[in-house]
Amino acid sequence: MRHVMKTYGRKSVAFTHGEGAWIFDTTGKRYLDALCGIAVTGLGHSHPRVTKAIQDQANTLIHCSNLYQIPEQESLAIKLCELSNMDTVFFSNSGAEANEAAIKLARLYGHKQGVEKPVIIVTEQSFHGRTMATLSATGNRKVQAGFEPLLSGFARVPFGDVEAIRQVALNNKNVVAIFVEPIQGEGGIQIPPPYYLNALRQIADEEDWLMMVDEVQSGMGRTGAWFAHQHNKIIPDVMTLAKGLGNGIPIGACLARGKASETLTPGTHGSTFGGNPLVSRAAMATIEAIELDGLIDRATFIGNAITQGLANNLKDLDSVIEIRNKGLMIGIELDRRCTPIIDLALEAGLLLNVTADKIVRLLPPLILDDEQIQLLVTTLSSVIKQFLNEPK
Ligand SMILES: *Cc1c(COP(=O)(O)O)cnc(C)c1O
Repeated sequence: MRHVMKTYGRKSVAFTHGEGAWIFDTTGKRYLDALCGIAVTGLGHSHPRVTKAIQDQANTLIHCSNLYQIPEQESLAIKLCELSNMDTVFFSNSGAEANEAAIKLARLYGHKQGVEKPVIIVTEQSFHGRTMATLSATGNRKVQAGFEPLLSGFARVPFGDVEAIRQVALNNKNVVAIFVEPIQGEGGIQIPPPYYLNALRQIADEEDWLMMVDEVQSGMGRTGAWFAHQHNKIIPDVMTLAKGLGNGIPIGACLARGKASETLTPGTHGSTFGGNPLVSRAAMATIEAIELDGLIDRATFIGNAITQGLANNLKDLDSVIEIRNKGLMIGIELDRRCTPIIDLALEAGLLLNVTADKIVRLLPPLILDDEQIQLLVTTLSSVIKQFLNEPK
Protein backbone atom coordinates (compact mmCIF):
# COMPACT_ATOMS: atom_id res chain seq x y z
CA MET A 1 0.00 0.00 0.00
CA ARG A 2 2.69 2.40 -1.16
CA HIS A 3 0.36 5.32 -1.79
CA VAL A 4 -1.53 5.06 1.48
CA MET A 5 -0.03 7.10 4.32
CA LYS A 6 1.77 4.83 6.72
CA THR A 7 -0.34 5.56 9.78
CA TYR A 8 -0.62 1.82 10.49
CA GLY A 9 1.94 -0.97 10.71
CA ARG A 10 0.01 -3.46 8.60
CA LYS A 11 0.15 -7.25 8.37
CA SER A 12 0.64 -8.62 4.85
CA VAL A 13 -2.68 -10.50 4.88
CA ALA A 14 -5.73 -9.10 3.01
CA PHE A 15 -9.29 -10.33 3.47
CA THR A 16 -11.84 -10.91 0.74
CA HIS A 17 -15.04 -11.81 2.59
CA GLY A 18 -16.53 -12.80 5.89
CA GLU A 19 -19.44 -14.81 7.19
CA GLY A 20 -20.49 -14.68 10.82
CA ALA A 21 -17.43 -15.16 13.01
CA TRP A 22 -15.32 -16.30 10.04
CA ILE A 23 -13.21 -14.15 7.76
CA PHE A 24 -11.33 -15.37 4.65
CA ASP A 25 -8.08 -14.13 3.11
CA THR A 26 -7.00 -13.89 -0.53
CA THR A 27 -5.54 -17.43 -0.40
CA GLY A 28 -8.85 -18.85 0.87
CA LYS A 29 -7.54 -19.40 4.41
CA ARG A 30 -10.21 -19.13 7.09
CA TYR A 31 -9.75 -17.24 10.37
CA LEU A 32 -11.88 -17.02 13.49
CA ASP A 33 -12.35 -13.28 14.01
CA ALA A 34 -11.90 -12.54 17.72
CA LEU A 35 -11.11 -8.88 17.08
CA CYS A 36 -14.14 -7.74 15.01
CA GLY A 37 -12.21 -4.91 13.34
CA ILE A 38 -11.61 -3.66 16.91
CA ALA A 39 -15.06 -4.08 18.48
CA VAL A 40 -16.95 -3.06 15.34
CA THR A 41 -18.61 -6.14 13.81
CA GLY A 42 -20.36 -7.38 16.93
CA LEU A 43 -22.91 -9.28 14.82
CA GLY A 44 -20.15 -10.91 12.79
CA HIS A 45 -19.64 -10.40 9.07
CA SER A 46 -22.39 -10.20 6.43
CA HIS A 47 -25.22 -10.25 8.94
CA PRO A 48 -28.37 -10.73 6.79
CA ARG A 49 -30.49 -8.17 8.65
CA VAL A 50 -27.86 -5.43 8.38
CA THR A 51 -27.03 -6.30 4.77
CA LYS A 52 -30.69 -6.12 3.79
CA ALA A 53 -31.17 -2.75 5.51
CA ILE A 54 -28.13 -1.34 3.68
CA GLN A 55 -29.31 -2.72 0.34
CA ASP A 56 -32.85 -1.38 0.75
CA GLN A 57 -31.69 2.04 1.82
CA ALA A 58 -29.01 2.25 -0.90
CA ASN A 59 -31.83 1.67 -3.39
CA THR A 60 -33.93 4.43 -1.83
CA LEU A 61 -31.86 7.33 -0.48
CA ILE A 62 -28.28 7.22 0.76
CA HIS A 63 -27.77 10.83 1.72
CA CYS A 64 -29.61 14.11 1.94
CA SER A 65 -28.45 16.64 4.55
CA ASN A 66 -29.07 17.54 8.15
CA LEU A 67 -30.70 20.70 6.76
CA TYR A 68 -33.80 18.50 6.35
CA GLN A 69 -35.86 16.06 8.39
CA ILE A 70 -34.35 12.56 8.34
CA PRO A 71 -36.97 10.07 9.61
CA GLU A 72 -34.46 7.16 9.72
CA GLN A 73 -32.18 9.25 11.95
CA GLU A 74 -35.09 10.23 14.20
CA SER A 75 -36.15 6.59 14.60
CA LEU A 76 -32.60 5.62 15.54
CA ALA A 77 -32.35 8.50 18.02
CA ILE A 78 -35.62 7.45 19.67
CA LYS A 79 -34.41 3.86 19.91
CA LEU A 80 -31.03 4.83 21.38
CA CYS A 81 -32.70 7.11 23.92
CA GLU A 82 -35.09 4.31 24.93
CA LEU A 83 -32.19 1.92 25.47
CA SER A 84 -30.09 4.42 27.43
CA ASN A 85 -32.58 6.72 29.20
CA MET A 86 -30.96 9.67 27.45
CA ASP A 87 -32.90 12.53 25.83
CA THR A 88 -31.11 13.69 22.69
CA VAL A 89 -28.52 12.44 20.19
CA PHE A 90 -25.95 14.05 17.89
CA PHE A 91 -24.78 11.72 15.10
CA SER A 92 -21.17 11.67 13.91
CA ASN A 93 -19.12 9.37 11.70
CA SER A 94 -16.61 8.00 14.20
CA GLY A 95 -15.76 7.66 17.86
CA ALA A 96 -13.34 10.57 17.87
CA GLU A 97 -16.02 12.83 16.42
CA ALA A 98 -18.58 11.64 18.96
CA ASN A 99 -16.07 12.55 21.67
CA GLU A 100 -15.35 15.92 20.03
CA ALA A 101 -19.07 16.63 20.35
CA ALA A 102 -18.98 15.63 24.04
CA ILE A 103 -15.96 17.86 24.72
CA LYS A 104 -17.55 20.82 22.93
CA LEU A 105 -20.81 20.20 24.77
CA ALA A 106 -19.02 20.22 28.15
CA ARG A 107 -17.17 23.45 27.34
CA LEU A 108 -20.34 25.19 26.16
CA TYR A 109 -22.17 23.93 29.25
CA GLY A 110 -19.38 25.46 31.36
CA HIS A 111 -19.48 28.78 29.54
CA LYS A 112 -23.24 28.94 29.99
CA GLN A 113 -22.61 28.55 33.73
CA GLY A 114 -20.11 31.42 33.68
CA VAL A 115 -16.93 29.29 33.74
CA GLU A 116 -14.56 31.01 31.33
CA LYS A 117 -11.88 28.31 31.17
CA PRO A 118 -13.76 25.05 31.62
CA VAL A 119 -11.78 21.96 32.63
CA ILE A 120 -12.72 18.34 31.96
CA ILE A 121 -11.31 15.61 34.24
CA VAL A 122 -9.87 12.69 32.25
CA THR A 123 -7.89 9.61 33.27
CA GLU A 124 -4.48 8.04 32.79
CA GLN A 125 -4.22 5.25 30.15
CA SER A 126 -7.46 6.43 28.57
CA PHE A 127 -8.09 6.50 24.84
CA HIS A 128 -10.55 8.90 23.26
CA GLY A 129 -9.38 9.24 19.65
CA ARG A 130 -6.87 10.82 17.29
CA THR A 131 -8.23 14.30 16.60
CA MET A 132 -6.55 17.20 18.41
CA ALA A 133 -9.12 17.50 21.18
CA THR A 134 -9.51 13.76 21.69
CA LEU A 135 -5.77 13.03 21.67
CA SER A 136 -5.35 15.80 24.22
CA ALA A 137 -7.96 14.04 26.37
CA THR A 138 -6.23 10.70 25.82
CA GLY A 139 -3.93 9.49 28.63
CA ASN A 140 -1.18 8.05 26.47
CA ARG A 141 1.99 9.97 25.60
CA LYS A 142 2.55 7.87 22.45
CA VAL A 143 -0.71 9.18 21.01
CA GLN A 144 0.21 12.79 21.84
CA ALA A 145 3.94 12.93 21.07
CA GLY A 146 4.78 15.23 18.19
CA PHE A 147 1.42 16.97 18.13
CA GLU A 148 2.03 19.60 20.77
CA PRO A 149 0.75 22.12 21.60
CA LEU A 150 -2.04 20.02 23.00
CA LEU A 151 -5.45 21.44 23.84
CA SER A 152 -5.61 22.81 27.36
CA GLY A 153 -8.59 22.32 29.63
CA PHE A 154 -8.02 18.75 30.80
CA ALA A 155 -7.08 17.64 34.32
CA ARG A 156 -5.75 14.10 34.60
CA VAL A 157 -6.26 11.59 37.40
CA PRO A 158 -5.41 7.87 37.79
CA PHE A 159 -8.17 5.57 36.48
CA GLY A 160 -10.24 3.99 39.24
CA ASP A 161 -9.10 6.50 41.87
CA VAL A 162 -12.03 8.34 43.45
CA GLU A 163 -9.94 10.22 46.01
CA ALA A 164 -7.88 11.87 43.26
CA ILE A 165 -11.07 13.30 41.79
CA ARG A 166 -12.16 14.65 45.17
CA GLN A 167 -8.78 16.42 45.37
CA VAL A 168 -9.30 18.04 41.96
CA ALA A 169 -12.79 19.11 43.08
CA LEU A 170 -11.29 20.86 46.10
CA ASN A 171 -8.53 22.63 44.19
CA ASN A 172 -9.98 23.46 40.78
CA LYS A 173 -13.14 25.53 40.53
CA ASN A 174 -13.12 25.41 36.72
CA VAL A 175 -14.06 21.74 36.41
CA VAL A 176 -17.30 21.28 34.45
CA ALA A 177 -17.23 17.58 33.57
CA ILE A 178 -15.62 14.23 34.12
CA PHE A 179 -15.03 11.97 31.13
CA VAL A 180 -14.11 8.28 31.44
CA GLU A 181 -14.36 4.94 29.68
CA PRO A 182 -16.40 2.57 31.90
CA ILE A 183 -13.79 -0.05 30.99
CA GLN A 184 -10.55 1.09 29.37
CA GLY A 185 -10.13 -0.71 26.05
CA GLU A 186 -6.89 0.50 24.45
CA GLY A 187 -5.48 0.91 27.96
CA GLY A 188 -5.50 -2.89 28.29
CA ILE A 189 -9.03 -3.99 29.30
CA GLN A 190 -8.76 -2.15 32.63
CA ILE A 191 -11.83 -2.75 34.76
CA PRO A 192 -12.26 -0.21 37.58
CA PRO A 193 -13.46 -1.08 41.10
CA PRO A 194 -17.21 -1.92 41.07
CA TYR A 195 -18.25 1.27 42.89
CA TYR A 196 -16.17 3.62 40.66
CA LEU A 197 -18.88 4.85 38.29
CA ASN A 198 -21.36 5.22 41.15
CA ALA A 199 -18.85 7.41 43.00
CA LEU A 200 -18.29 9.51 39.86
CA ARG A 201 -22.04 9.93 39.47
CA GLN A 202 -22.30 11.09 43.07
CA ILE A 203 -19.41 13.57 42.82
CA ALA A 204 -20.74 14.95 39.54
CA ASP A 205 -24.13 15.51 41.20
CA GLU A 206 -22.58 17.18 44.24
CA GLU A 207 -20.36 19.46 42.14
CA ASP A 208 -22.86 20.04 39.32
CA TRP A 209 -20.44 18.54 36.77
CA LEU A 210 -21.47 16.56 33.73
CA MET A 211 -20.70 12.87 34.02
CA MET A 212 -19.62 11.78 30.54
CA VAL A 213 -18.83 8.19 29.53
CA ASP A 214 -16.94 7.10 26.43
CA GLU A 215 -18.70 3.87 25.44
CA VAL A 216 -17.24 3.83 21.93
CA GLN A 217 -15.69 0.41 22.63
CA SER A 218 -17.73 -0.85 25.60
CA GLY A 219 -21.18 -0.02 24.24
CA MET A 220 -23.67 -1.89 22.04
CA GLY A 221 -24.01 -5.01 24.14
CA ARG A 222 -20.36 -5.97 24.23
CA THR A 223 -20.06 -6.13 28.03
CA GLY A 224 -23.38 -7.91 28.62
CA ALA A 225 -25.45 -4.73 28.94
CA TRP A 226 -26.44 -2.33 26.19
CA PHE A 227 -23.96 0.13 27.69
CA ALA A 228 -21.29 -0.81 30.24
CA HIS A 229 -22.30 1.88 32.75
CA GLN A 230 -25.69 0.18 33.08
CA HIS A 231 -24.03 -2.56 35.18
CA ASN A 232 -23.76 0.20 37.85
CA LYS A 233 -27.42 1.21 37.50
CA ILE A 234 -26.48 4.85 36.97
CA ILE A 235 -27.33 7.22 34.11
CA PRO A 236 -24.61 9.54 32.81
CA ASP A 237 -25.29 13.04 31.48
CA VAL A 238 -23.41 12.38 28.24
CA MET A 239 -22.46 9.12 26.50
CA THR A 240 -20.57 8.53 23.27
CA LEU A 241 -20.88 5.54 20.93
CA ALA A 242 -19.37 4.43 17.63
CA LYS A 243 -17.52 1.14 16.87
CA GLY A 244 -20.30 -1.48 17.27
CA LEU A 245 -23.15 0.90 16.50
CA GLY A 246 -23.42 0.19 12.75
CA ASN A 247 -21.72 -3.24 12.57
CA GLY A 248 -19.12 -1.77 10.20
CA ILE A 249 -21.01 1.14 8.66
CA PRO A 250 -19.23 4.27 9.99
CA ILE A 251 -21.49 5.95 12.55
CA GLY A 252 -20.91 7.54 15.93
CA ALA A 253 -23.25 9.19 18.42
CA CYS A 254 -23.08 11.60 21.32
CA LEU A 255 -26.10 11.22 23.59
CA ALA A 256 -27.10 13.69 26.28
CA ARG A 257 -29.64 13.87 29.03
CA GLY A 258 -31.44 16.51 31.08
CA LYS A 259 -29.47 19.69 31.54
CA ALA A 260 -26.92 18.55 28.93
CA SER A 261 -29.46 17.60 26.28
CA GLU A 262 -30.14 21.09 24.96
CA THR A 263 -26.69 22.65 25.32
CA LEU A 264 -25.77 22.34 21.65
CA THR A 265 -28.07 24.55 19.55
CA PRO A 266 -28.29 25.39 15.82
CA GLY A 267 -24.96 26.67 14.54
CA THR A 268 -22.87 25.33 17.44
CA HIS A 269 -22.02 21.96 15.94
CA GLY A 270 -22.62 19.88 12.84
CA SER A 271 -21.63 17.10 10.45
CA THR A 272 -22.25 16.72 6.73
CA PHE A 273 -22.57 12.93 6.75
CA GLY A 274 -23.61 12.38 10.37
CA GLY A 275 -26.73 10.23 10.73
CA ASN A 276 -27.58 10.06 7.04
CA PRO A 277 -30.38 7.68 6.00
CA LEU A 278 -27.99 4.84 5.06
CA VAL A 279 -25.97 4.72 8.28
CA SER A 280 -29.07 5.27 10.40
CA ARG A 281 -30.81 2.27 8.82
CA ALA A 282 -27.72 0.10 9.29
CA ALA A 283 -27.46 1.05 12.96
CA MET A 284 -31.18 0.44 13.51
CA ALA A 285 -30.87 -3.02 11.92
CA THR A 286 -27.86 -3.73 14.15
CA ILE A 287 -29.84 -2.85 17.29
CA GLU A 288 -32.83 -4.93 16.14
CA ALA A 289 -30.62 -7.94 15.48
CA ILE A 290 -29.02 -7.69 18.92
CA GLU A 291 -32.51 -7.56 20.47
CA LEU A 292 -34.13 -10.28 18.35
CA ASP A 293 -31.29 -12.74 18.87
CA GLY A 294 -30.91 -12.10 22.62
CA LEU A 295 -27.25 -11.19 22.17
CA ILE A 296 -26.83 -9.08 25.30
CA ASP A 297 -27.18 -12.13 27.55
CA ARG A 298 -25.26 -14.20 25.05
CA ALA A 299 -22.32 -11.75 25.36
CA THR A 300 -22.13 -12.44 29.09
CA PHE A 301 -22.29 -16.20 28.53
CA ILE A 302 -19.66 -16.25 25.76
CA GLY A 303 -17.33 -13.89 27.61
CA ASN A 304 -17.42 -15.95 30.79
CA ALA A 305 -17.04 -19.25 28.90
CA ILE A 306 -13.95 -17.97 27.08
CA THR A 307 -12.43 -16.51 30.22
CA GLN A 308 -13.03 -19.67 32.28
CA GLY A 309 -11.75 -21.89 29.48
CA LEU A 310 -8.55 -19.87 29.20
CA ALA A 311 -8.15 -19.75 32.97
CA ASN A 312 -8.36 -23.57 33.14
CA ASN A 313 -5.89 -24.10 30.32
CA LEU A 314 -3.36 -21.50 31.49
CA LYS A 315 -3.61 -21.85 35.27
CA ASP A 316 -0.17 -23.45 35.67
CA LEU A 317 1.67 -20.68 33.82
CA ASP A 318 3.38 -18.17 36.10
CA SER A 319 3.83 -15.77 33.19
CA VAL A 320 0.06 -15.29 32.90
CA ILE A 321 -0.59 -12.50 35.39
CA GLU A 322 -4.35 -12.14 35.04
CA ILE A 323 -7.24 -13.08 32.77
CA ARG A 324 -10.07 -10.57 33.11
CA ASN A 325 -13.28 -9.74 31.29
CA LYS A 326 -16.57 -7.96 31.35
CA GLY A 327 -18.63 -9.82 28.78
CA LEU A 328 -16.74 -9.74 25.52
CA MET A 329 -14.04 -7.29 26.49
CA ILE A 330 -11.38 -9.83 27.43
CA GLY A 331 -7.77 -9.20 28.44
CA ILE A 332 -5.01 -11.72 29.13
CA GLU A 333 -2.18 -9.94 30.89
CA LEU A 334 1.27 -11.48 30.56
CA ASP A 335 4.46 -10.65 32.44
CA ARG A 336 6.22 -9.49 29.27
CA ARG A 337 5.72 -7.65 26.00
CA CYS A 338 3.81 -10.04 23.78
CA THR A 339 3.11 -8.50 20.37
CA PRO A 340 4.54 -11.61 18.58
CA ILE A 341 1.37 -13.42 19.71
CA ILE A 342 -0.52 -11.52 17.02
CA ASP A 343 1.44 -13.27 14.26
CA LEU A 344 1.39 -16.68 15.97
CA ALA A 345 -2.40 -16.41 16.26
CA LEU A 346 -2.72 -15.26 12.64
CA GLU A 347 -0.71 -18.31 11.58
CA ALA A 348 -3.07 -20.48 13.65
CA GLY A 349 -6.15 -18.91 12.02
CA LEU A 350 -7.19 -16.52 14.77
CA LEU A 351 -7.51 -12.71 14.72
CA LEU A 352 -6.79 -10.84 17.94
CA ASN A 353 -4.53 -8.03 19.07
CA VAL A 354 -2.31 -6.83 21.87
CA THR A 355 -2.74 -3.54 23.74
CA ALA A 356 -0.58 -1.78 26.30
CA ASP A 357 2.29 -4.08 25.18
CA LYS A 358 1.54 -6.94 27.58
CA ILE A 359 -2.17 -7.57 27.25
CA VAL A 360 -3.67 -9.93 24.69
CA ARG A 361 -7.04 -8.39 23.82
CA LEU A 362 -10.06 -10.29 22.57
CA LEU A 363 -13.15 -8.47 21.27
CA PRO A 364 -15.08 -11.38 19.76
CA PRO A 365 -18.48 -11.14 18.07
CA LEU A 366 -21.66 -11.59 20.14
CA ILE A 367 -22.72 -14.42 17.84
CA LEU A 368 -20.02 -17.04 18.57
CA ASP A 369 -21.51 -20.54 18.79
CA ASP A 370 -20.37 -23.10 21.36
CA GLU A 371 -18.01 -24.81 18.95
CA GLN A 372 -16.37 -21.50 18.04
CA ILE A 373 -15.96 -20.67 21.73
CA GLN A 374 -14.10 -23.98 22.20
CA LEU A 375 -11.96 -23.41 19.11
CA LEU A 376 -11.03 -19.92 20.30
CA VAL A 377 -10.05 -21.22 23.76
CA THR A 378 -7.93 -24.14 22.49
CA THR A 379 -6.24 -22.16 19.71
CA LEU A 380 -5.37 -19.21 21.90
CA SER A 381 -4.20 -21.40 24.79
CA SER A 382 -1.74 -23.21 22.56
CA VAL A 383 -0.58 -19.95 20.93
CA ILE A 384 0.15 -18.43 24.35
CA LYS A 385 1.99 -21.59 25.44
CA GLN A 386 3.96 -21.58 22.20
CA PHE A 387 4.92 -17.92 22.77
CA LEU A 388 5.95 -18.44 26.38
CA ASN A 389 8.10 -21.45 25.51
CA GLU A 390 10.15 -19.30 23.21
CA PRO A 391 13.26 -17.76 24.76
CA LYS A 392 12.61 -14.31 26.24
C1 LIG B 1 -11.74 3.44 19.24
C2 LIG B 1 -12.08 4.37 20.32
C3 LIG B 1 -12.23 5.75 20.07
C4 LIG B 1 -11.98 6.36 18.72
O1 LIG B 1 -12.90 5.93 17.76
P1 LIG B 1 -12.61 6.22 16.20
O2 LIG B 1 -13.85 5.74 15.52
O3 LIG B 1 -11.38 5.44 15.83
O4 LIG B 1 -12.39 7.67 16.05
C5 LIG B 1 -12.61 6.56 21.13
N1 LIG B 1 -12.81 6.06 22.35
C6 LIG B 1 -12.67 4.75 22.63
C7 LIG B 1 -12.94 4.25 24.01
C8 LIG B 1 -12.28 3.87 21.63
O5 LIG B 1 -12.11 2.57 21.91
